This record gives sequence, structure tokens and C-alpha cells, in this order.
Amino acid sequence: MGMSQEDICAGSSAAWAHYTKLIIDGHRFDLEKRAYQQELLSYWTMDGKKKTNEVIQTGSQVGKTIGKVIEATHGAMYNKYPQGIIFYFPQRTGVDVFSAGRFQYFLDDNPHVKAMLGKTNRNDCRRIGKTNIYFFGAGASIRVKGEAKDASSARSTPADWIILDERAIFDEDMAKQLNQRLGNSTIARRTDVGTPKIPGDGLDTIYQASDQRQWFIKCEKCNHYTCAEDEFIADADKAIIVYQGKGYTACSHCREPIVPWAPGSKWVPKYPDRTTQGYWVSQMLNPNRNLELMLQQWHDPEAYQWTKEEFYRTVLGMPYITAEHKLTQQMVYSCIGMDKMCESSRVRTVMGVDIGKVLHYVIGIKRGKKQYDILKVGRVADQYELHDVAEKMNVQFAVIDHDPEIHMVEEFQKHEKYAIFLNRYSDTMRGQPVYIDKGDKKGTVTSGRTKFCDMTHDAISDRQFNLPRRCPEMDEYAFEMTNTVKVLEKDEKTGLSVYRYRQLSNKPDHYFHASLYFLLAAQEVAEVKTNEIEGNNTLPQALNEFYL
Ligand SMILES: [Zn+2]
Repeated sequence: MGMSQEDICAGSSAAWAHYTKLIIDGHRFDLEKRAYQQELLSYWTMDGKKKTNEVIQTGSQVGKTIGKVIEATHGAMYNKYPQGIIFYFPQRTGVDVFSAGRFQYFLDDNPHVKAMLGKTNRNDCRRIGKTNIYFFGAGASIRVKGEAKDASSARSTPADWIILDERAIFDEDMAKQLNQRLGNSTIARRTDVGTPKIPGDGLDTIYQASDQRQWFIKCEKCNHYTCAEDEFIADADKAIIVYQGKGYTACSHCREPIVPWAPGSKWVPKYPDRTTQGYWVSQMLNPNRNLELMLQQWHDPEAYQWTKEEFYRTVLGMPYITAEHKLTQQMVYSCIGMDKMCESSRVRTVMGVDIGKVLHYVIGIKRGKKQYDILKVGRVADQYELHDVAEKMNVQFAVIDHDPEIHMVEEFQKHEKYAIFLNRYSDTMRGQPVYIDKGDKKGTVTSGRTKFCDMTHDAISDRQFNLPRRCPEMDEYAFEMTNTVKVLEKDEKTGLSVYRYRQLSNKPDHYFHASLYFLLAAQEVAEVKTNEIEGNNTLPQALNEFYL
């Protein structure tokens, strides 16, 4: 018994789009040269898995959002998500651009879809058949105790499927909370999609934890399978060959030209046992992409008004950051010495403290211009434990995070016997930090955030820090040092692009800031001379071993 065309259309959004001759962005939908979209447009994978959690990392111009629009529209027409479908964008502005723009064109181009529109037809809600498709911005409207909360309209709307578009630039708190929309759903489907930005950002983290599907092209000559992206990253010049004046991916086995829509090509998961389906869609799969030009752009992005980062992100659909913009754990470990952490010190030290749920401190001495020995790093539960540590370590000067526990740190500052300044960051300041001494070397300091983040980065990358030897706490230190990254952002007031340091998708970065406060403090004290250390026979053993 054969299935009718209507049955096939009901079962597959790709088949529906194909048979109903859907117009997408002005062109007739065509699977012929976009075989990779068949599985992307389906609730089921070709290897028989239901896509309850799905993540798609893509380059630009590969039709990822419109693909989900096809699937959502099809799902609404065939009543597959009765409680509704929500598209989320990082900001409210994205809703208007998308719903009033591309989605409206999609409706106008396809009268058979437009005919299904219900009475509700606003930018934030389109009713198709019996199903509402919502378009919401997921910008945090308020923050409660530092955590983002969404707007009440988004909070009260239930759904069977949520789709987060441009996932890499979502507020992480918000992205997590959106699952509450699915609380009453037996389908409870979620899709995260976007162009990745930085390794370790929200989208990359989800993709890394997924089954990591890649498109493998079958060679019609030798039957070997090739992943174009893997080959390109391994050796771009070998991966692309020019044949009859046109660029092609080369079969990694027989070197013949192959095309992504070759029969038998398929998505292959790297980790088949994982429950989230992850897809990686680069421009190499786009049948209109000129691969010869792509190779030239790879070798000389600047000639095409590009950066290497942009090439990775928009063409390959991969997150990328240059070494100057993110520390690696390896860079931190290269600063590590032979000595264990000191438990006490008779030599005067300085301290930086970051205030969070616990207190992170970094204590050390300034040995020269841009030369610092870190004697001890650690975490304590409260100001009393911090007092004990500071006393044992002979702290003479400290810089402490002004926020978020202003009451506690002011009390602490008042009772301690050494100089303490409470730091506030300025996003615009370029010059020297400004100290306000309210008497007794107690007061506040305002410092340029970007400038001192740069200095902290350099303290590790240029090995200005001499760190204690490896131990579990130093491993935590190394991890947290890598979670503050420098990104190019558009200033909303001036419209200019500026570099800013950002925390990486809510990963802890307390030690980065504690190290920064230590550096701030160290700028204010004299260098500790070697004779101060050697002449002091009451030095703890560890310090003596350290310097002799
Ligand atoms: Zn071959």
C-alpha cells in the first residue's frame, strides 16, 4: 500500500514544502541540492531519534531560521503542537524585524499558508490553523538579585515547542528559564539555533554536549564518506579542488570532486549515545557557495573586509577567538612554579578580593615592575575567615570588590588594620585609577575595567605572575581565569565598535577579578626587595626556599 501525497505531506515538513511548491525568500523550496535540510526540517532523525532537544550551529546565509519557520508552520497546520510554538529572539527588536519582515514575506509569497491564518495576526502572535505561533524577545526586562527575569507576557504563555534564535547572544539566565514554558507539555520540544561566537559561549556549550552531527558526503566514484568541514579545517588547500573552473570539495579518499547533495550523503553523530541532537551547518553545504572564492577568503580575509573570527563564525559556523582575547588554562599553567602555596608570610603582601556567594582572594607581593609572586589564592565563606587569612599573610594593602555586599565590605574595611580600598569599575575610564582616601588609607577606587582586564590578561600571557604549584585550588584558579573574554561590541550610545570584557555564559570568573584587584593594589605599593626577604630570618620556610 502506497502512501498518498497528503499522508506524506502530513508526515514531513520537507515533503510538504516540496509538494506545495513553497516559496522561501523569493525562491521555490528545493530539496534536490539541499539534501542536508531533510533531517534538519524533521522532528525525527534519519537514525530514528525524536528531537526533543536540538541544537543547530550554523554559518550565516544557510537558511536556518526560515527552516524552522517551515517546520513550525507545518506543525501548526497539522496541529502537532496544540499548546503553541514560541520563537524567542535575544531582544524585542529581533521580533519586529523577523515577524514583520521575513515571516510576512513568507506568508505573502505562499497564499495556501496565508489562507490558514486565524483572526489573531499580530507581529508577536500569528495563528495558523488551530495553533498560535508566538514571537517574543527574551531580553531580561528586570533583574532580581542579579538574576534576569523575563517579561510577564512571555512568562505566562505555555508552549509545546520553543525555538531560541541567535542563541549565542542570549542572556544565559533567560535561556535557562525559558524551559518553564514547556512545564505543562507532553511534547516539550526545544531548539537552540544560531551562529556561534566564542568557544565556551552558550551555544557552543550546548553543541559540545550534544551528539555533534556532521554532514558526510558520499563519493559517487569510490563510496567513501567525507566531512567537508573537517577536511577544510585540517588542510583548506587540500580540501577544495578546482575542477573545470569551479571549486569543489575533494573526496578525502580518491580526490575526485564531490557535492553535498550526492545521493547517500547523511548526518553522522560523533557521539550517538547523547540525547541532544546537534547539527553543524557551514556554508560549504550551500549549493550556491563559491568554494574557490571561499578558499581565497580563508587565506586573506582582510582583502574581503573580514577578520579571521568572522570567517570562522559566518562561513564555517564555528566559534572562534584569538589568543589575545581569551586566556587558556595552558597559559595559566605556564606561570606555575615549584613552590606550594604559603600559609603565612612575614614579608608585607597585597591582596585582591572578589565578593560573591563566597569570597575569592589572591595574595602576593610585587617583586618588580610587572613582576609578581602570588603566594596564596583561596576561597573563604565570610569576612571573619578573610580576616584570619589576611593577618597570617601579613596583608598591608587590599583592594576589594565594592559590590554586591557593600554593607559587609564597609564593616570589614573599618575594622581591619591595613589599607583597604573598595573598587568600582568604570566602562569608559582609560587613565590611572582614581583613589579617594577617606582617612586612614581607607576609601574607594575607580578603575577602568577594560584597561585593568587587559593588564590581568597580560599578567598571565606575559608570565608576569609567578604562581604556586599545581593543586586543586590552582586548577580552579586556572579554570576561572579563562572565563572572562574580550569581545568586540557595538556601543549603543555612540554606535562605535569597542572591545569589552565579558563573562563567558555565566561560568565562574571570580579569580580573574580577584587577580585584577590584586594588580590594582600592587600598583600602589613599593616593590619588595630581595634583601627584605633574605634578611628576614623569621620568614616561613616556604618563602625562604622560594627565594634562595
Ligand atoms: Zn572518492
